[in-house]
Amino acid sequence: PLKQLIVVTPTYNRAFQAYFLNRLGQVLRLVKPPLVWIVVEEKTVSLETAEILRKTGVMYRHVVSTHNSSNVKDRGVRQRNAALDHIERQKLDGIVFFADDDNVYTIELFESLRTISRFGTWPVAMLERSKNKAILEGPVCNASQVIGWNTNEKSKRLRRFHVDMSGFAFNSTILWDPKRWGYPFSNPIRQLDMVKEGFQETTFIAQVVEDESQMEGIPPGCSRIVNWHLHLDTGNLVYPKGWQLQKNLEVT
Ligand code: UDP
Repeated sequence: PLKQLIVVTPTYNRAFQAYFLNRLGQVLRLVKPPLVWIVVEEKTVSLETAEILRKTGVMYRHVVSTHNSSNVKDRGVRQRNAALDHIERQKLDGIVFFADDDNVYTIELFESLRTISRFGTWPVAMLERSKNKAILEGPVCNASQVIGWNTNEKSKRLRRFHVDMSGFAFNSTILWDPKRWGYPFSNPIRQLDMVKEGFQETTFIAQVVEDESQMEGIPPGCSRIVNWHLHLDTGNLVYPKGWQLQKNLEVT
């Protein structure tokens, strides 16, 4: 049988949410099952999101992050942690992948996730629209061995691992591996709230693996781009005068 894929997507109501979730949902629909899509919102489950999920035809769980929320914008950190809680509680067995709603993914990517035994990583292409610049972030590989990292952002040189949030995936059994954590878990693997911008991924990965020798570069050679991080900032759209925007591009 094929390995289960556990796709975790934090999301929130804003103008382009319907576009993003439909686009991702339609790709997931084309991936061979078993696949479960864990979509996480903050505080409450919204009708807009529920409606879209129902129509995608993908097996999903609609989860709410109830962690105390501060005013700090954390870009999905608490929501991903709520998904990890869910996976751990329900002992969902599979490959966990953090798929942010605004990125673009190939079916090939989801199929190659199934080749991961412990922790897999691959390069992600990014478009920095504000700087009009395309960059590549992720591993340099010799077959499936990770031998170095691509990055060209000066501000992030100090990171241990140069990986995008949607540039790695891991086996859920790591979350409850008694050899690694002892039992009961005194030190659950989670994303950290107070980490400097751009360091979220590397601090998370450092909890999951010791070093590059425990990583698998996929697809072998890591020379293909299988997803894109566009940084489409659609938070501050300007609408025609007189339009009033409801949550999800419903205009009155
Ligand atoms: N996100 C969220 N609530 C927020 C901000 C972001 O749920 O207040 C989600 C967003 O939908 C996306 C992920 O977190 O799935 C990453 O957010 P964003 O794309 O803004 O971060 P960036 O790609 O710029 O790092």
